[in-house]
Formats: sequence, structure tokens, C-alpha cells
Amino acid sequence: MKWDNSLLDMTSCRLCPRNCGADRTKRRGYCGEKAVLRCARAALHHWEEPCISGTRGSGTVFFSGCNLRCCFCQNYKISQEGTGKELSPENLADIFLRLQEQGAHNINLVTAGHFLPAVLKALELAKPRLHIPVVYNCGGYEKPEVIEILKDYVDIYLPDLKYFSPVLSSRYSGAGDYFSVASQSIATMISQTGNPVFDEEGLLKKGVIIRHMVLPGSRKDSSAVLHWIKDNLPEGSFLLSLLSQYTPFYKSSQYPEINRRLTTYEYNKVLEEAISLGLTQGFMQEKSSAKEEYTPPFNLEGLE
Ligand code: SF4
Repeated sequence: MKWDNSLLDMTSCRLCPRNCGADRTKRRGYCGEKAVLRCARAALHHWEEPCISGTRGSGTVFFSGCNLRCCFCQNYKISQEGTGKELSPENLADIFLRLQEQGAHNINLVTAGHFLPAVLKALELAKPRLHIPVVYNCGGYEKPEVIEILKDYVDIYLPDLKYFSPVLSSRYSGAGDYFSVASQSIATMISQTGNPVFDEEGLLKKGVIIRHMVLPGSRKDSSAVLHWIKDNLPEGSFLLSLLSQYTPFYKSSQYPEINRRLTTYEYNKVLEEAISLGLTQGFMQEKSSAKEEYTPPFNLEGLE
């Protein structure tokens, strides 16, 4: 098996930059999960970027747990409160194929990194019959070595680049090294996929979409993120998705500065900066898009 790698050893887990060393055959790591695969929903999803959702939807599988555990997480019920159902890799492979049968444009793995060994096994099982692209949708806090392992399995990466400042990443996600890790991972993703490739219907077949959600009161940090992108990533090698949907979910009320929605002024200033830097290949959101429709019901749909 190509993925026989000490990185995938669940008895002393160092899969992600947390490097917990947890024996996940016995206990949970920082990500909140043992080695057994758990998911909370597998269904067609229409709320990703248009080149991912298309007309029929993205075949989205939401995994339980998360290695970032952001205080404002909109998916906190699955990322931090434990909602989910145990599955075998064989179950997951069947789920991928069922989503394909339902017309999914792609298989969209949301926060799958901490289950990598089982997910790779499922992808390997499904591979002979899976003809749609596989999307790896993550918070960006991934080891570049893990991205290397995904090379033969993933066609599209959808990483966040959430923060530049270690102060912010430490405060909201408990990860002071977030930017140094995420920036390296994203560069690895881009060198792996090459420039974005679309099909005749405008759906993405290969490439990287970098997502940045503007946070209330953090325009300067967004500006630093945009400048890093401009100065370090080759033009035309990625798409940028600038998100305005921030809503104070979960523990945001404990952080007064982010316990509010983003203003139109804040979002527009960041957008203007992206445009002035020439970062115009990608997507922007209507400011009215901070709606709960972006959070699907985590009701175990599609996991039978
Ligand atoms: S995947 Fe989970 S257990 Fe493994 S190092 Fe990361 S947070 Fe720790």
C-alpha cells in the first residue's frame, strides 16, 4: 500500500501540526476523535463556490472532530460537540459512490485530515468506480507531508487561510503557528495540482481555491493575508474566495471584538484591497450571505 507511512500511525498520532502523540486506538486526540472514522452528514451541498456546487451539488461528507476548534466555528456541533456516526472505510467508499450516483459533481471531504488512514482506504476502495473529482476541504492547518500523501487521491484543494497574525490564530484557534503551517501547506497544494482547470460547464476539475473569511475588526490581518498571497503565490495558480459570511457562532460571545456580524464597510475595504493587488481570479460573496443556510443540518443524512 502506497500510504504505509509512520505519519499514519494512529497509536501515536502526529498526523497534524498538533503532534499530540495520542494513542487513538484508546483515546481521543486534540481533534476530539479516536481512530474510528465518524461522519455527521453525506449529501448534495449547494453552498460551495459555483465551480464546486455547479447545478447538481457537491457530494459533501462532513467528518466529526477538527484539529483547529475555532471559537466561532459554524459547524461546532460536529467539529467540537461530538455529533457523528461511526463508519468503516468500506461504508465510506459506498457513500462516495452513492453520492456520485445521485449526480454529485465531486466528492467533497470536509475536515477529513484527522481520519486520513481510513479516508485513504475508502478512496482506494472507491477509486476504480469513482469518476468525479475529489475535493479536500480543510482549515489549512495541515502538515505539508500529509498533502504529499494525498497526491494520488485529491484533485481539488479548498483550504482556508484564516489568519496571518499568530496572536489572532492563537486567540481564536489555539494555534500560534497557524500561518506558518497553512502557508506552506497551501504552497504544496498549488505545486501539486498546478493551475486551475475547468471543464466545459465551468466546473473545477483540478486546482486550489484559497478561502479567506474576513473577521470583524481584523481588516489589517486580512490585508496581511492578501499581501502574502500576492507576493508568494504565482499569478493564475489559484482562485481566491473572499468570504463575508462571518456570524458569531459557538463561543464568539466570549470574545467581545468578534461577537457581531461583519459590516459592509469592513468587507468592501478588504475586497477593494484584493482588487488593487490584482487578486481578481476567484469569488466574492454578497454581503447579505451571512445566513444559516450555510450550516446544513447535521442529522446523519446519507450515512445509512
Ligand atoms: S490528528 Fe488529532 S490526535 Fe492526531 S496530532 Fe492532530 S489533533 Fe492530535
